[in-house]
Amino acid sequence: METVKMPVPDKVVIPMKQHMGRECTPTVKLTDLVKVGQIIGDTDAFIGAPIHSSVSGKVTKIDEIIGTDGNPIKAVEITTDKLQEIDESVKVPEVTDLQSFAAAIRASGLVGLGGAGFPTHVKLMPKNLDEVTTLLVNGAECEPYITADNRAMLEDTDDIVEGIKLVKKYMNLSTVIIGIEDNKPQAIAKLQAAVADIEGASVKALKAQYPQGGEKVLIYECTGKIVPEGKLPSDVGCVVMNVSSIAFVAKYMRTGMPLITKRLTVDGDAIAEPKNVEVAIGTSFSDVIDFCGGFKTEPKKIIMGGPMMGFAVPTINYPVLKNNNAILAFSAAKTAEAEKPETPCIRCARCVNACPFSLMPAAIEKAYKAGNVDALKALKVNLCMECGCCAYVCPAKRNLVSVNRLAKKMIVERSK
Ligand code: SF4
Ligand code: SF4
Repeated sequence: METVKMPVPDKVVIPMKQHMGRECTPTVKLTDLVKVGQIIGDTDAFIGAPIHSSVSGKVTKIDEIIGTDGNPIKAVEITTDKLQEIDESVKVPEVTDLQSFAAAIRASGLVGLGGAGFPTHVKLMPKNLDEVTTLLVNGAECEPYITADNRAMLEDTDDIVEGIKLVKKYMNLSTVIIGIEDNKPQAIAKLQAAVADIEGASVKALKAQYPQGGEKVLIYECTGKIVPEGKLPSDVGCVVMNVSSIAFVAKYMRTGMPLITKRLTVDGDAIAEPKNVEVAIGTSFSDVIDFCGGFKTEPKKIIMGGPMMGFAVPTINYPVLKNNNAILAFSAAKTAEAEKPETPCIRCARCVNACPFSLMPAAIEKAYKAGNVDALKALKVNLCMECGCCAYVCPAKRNLVSVNRLAKKMIVERSK
């Protein structure tokens, strides 16, 4: 499905936290007039990124909304004037070295567009820069239904190549590996041809299986290196960037326009006309779904992200975020199997066999229920990347991913 640009909606709601790290503080007030690309929220925290207006118009509300994690976040509502006037701050950045490159990327508001939302400028400045040699470009879009990154590889190939050259140059890297699943032969062929003249760059075709795009899984499959518990990709000499993120780097360096739109897949059996769409950040799910022909059947579940790692949203008025790569809507018939009630664990070990890190989810659940933090640490729950494979295969429908999330939180809280 080729990407279609959605017209600017009547209103956007832009949350002040769309990344890992500190929430931004609004830099605009009620009734302010704003333009496209203007900063409307920022933080002085290193792990954080500014937030820009995706439209021109008037600030009509600054209020709290409930985030996907259930916590309240501030959000700025802008009623659009449809003129899409560009703010005077939008300028091609001046970049001469890694320091100014990372500063420009921070100013662009770029965070990991594959879903994680980690601020990109932080990845560009690892403490052990001299030991980092390899850029891994993540084109392993492994969650079912989502094809937005595949479209990026086919439609934004030149930007991906330019982005690779920039990151390679400023980080002084010798090797680039683009990992793509082997069910995307067109993307593999196109990128192989496109990077042929970049020294040290290659495309690695990966087996199409979930969760091939998980950061640690990708590093292992592309380099054979294992990221130890509590360590970062840079500790094994790698920096990992998603294909859409790397394409954005090139676009920003060419135009100076910060991150204000997002390409995402709209799909699921309840959607009338599934599409890949590029939308203004802050557009409501409801407007995006209307653009895709509305619902053809009553939706039972609406998910932001993929069916494995995404979050069910309580309302279709939820806004599109920077790291939102899909909106999926499923009917009751489609969700019936997943929504069966939990039954007791039958010790079949399917969850262990399904886990890419050979964790023991049933034992983790037992330790969590007993409040046994030492056992949780020994069971290495912190390695869990919340991929959902264990819960997917569990015949007893145990809610293993949620338990793992809570178990990790318990470790943090007890250590305070
Ligand atoms: S897959 Fe489910 S039933 Fe089987 S051991 Fe794991 S938690 Fe228990
Ligand atoms: S969600 Fe389950 S399968 Fe995935 S890493 Fe965590 S324990 Fe393993």
